[in-house]
Amino acid sequence: MAIKGGASLNRPLIAGNWKMNGLAVSLAELRALKERLGQNPVPEVDVMVCPPATLLAQARYFLTGSTILLGAQDCHPLPSGAHTGDISAEMLADAGASAIIVGHSERRIDHGETDALVSAKARAAYRAGLTAIICVGETGEERKDGQTLEVVRRQLQRSLPNEARAGNSVIAYEPVWAIGTGVTPTPADVAELHGFIRAELGRLLGEGQASGVRILYGGSVKPANARELLVVPEVNGALVGGASLKAADFYAIVSAYAGRGGG
Ligand code: PEP
Repeated sequence: MAIKGGASLNRPLIAGNWKMNGLAVSLAELRALKERLGQNPVPEVDVMVCPPATLLAQARYFLTGSTILLGAQDCHPLPSGAHTGDISAEMLADAGASAIIVGHSERRIDHGETDALVSAKARAAYRAGLTAIICVGETGEERKDGQTLEVVRRQLQRSLPNEARAGNSVIAYEPVWAIGTGVTPTPADVAELHGFIRAELGRLLGEGQASGVRILYGGSVKPANARELLVVPEVNGALVGGASLKAADFYAIVSAYAGRGGG
């Protein structure tokens, strides 16, 4: 089932991307997050955790009775077949995911994923009834060369399928140079990029759809900087890597968005 993508700008989404981290023992962090959110709920925020695919089914079990959503980190474009080692969107839905991250820069860089492949993967997510969290963002070199807007525009144009709608898609703006580095763009830079992405979405999807698509910021979001990044206009949540691995940090980011802490 897709998460509510449309008509949801008033409900920010904070999604944690565990990447290739997490063994069964790490589910204790998920339990701790569930307990914190149970004791001190943040009902105005949608909270999602994207563990490795190996933990999805167990995570679903751990999250019974919780509002925490589960997401996956990647999928194959096809529903099934002879593709050793790959996992389809349908399988991820079956394991409990409500969304799939596609086009993360680590996949674009490590696996040479093209915009066309990212688009096919987003379409696979839709086919399985899931939300596609489509990542875009420039490298440090592209930024130095003044190509940021051009790169992000091209990625949006080519990575978003024609079927992209507010109800099935979330965009994550993740400047590659900010991922895992502790360095973040200034709030003014984030505002510029998110405004630019909103305008591009308007051109691609039409204003009606574009105005309902959540645009997340990702790249070194931590409890200490969450509030200043998340209150920027057109920032509708965050995609969080490293700081999502510890329940205490992730909870602090979620509550920072709701204006209740986070440094
Ligand atoms: C990410 O990889 O999606 C990410 C935002 O990572 P980090 O928060 O660790 O920079």
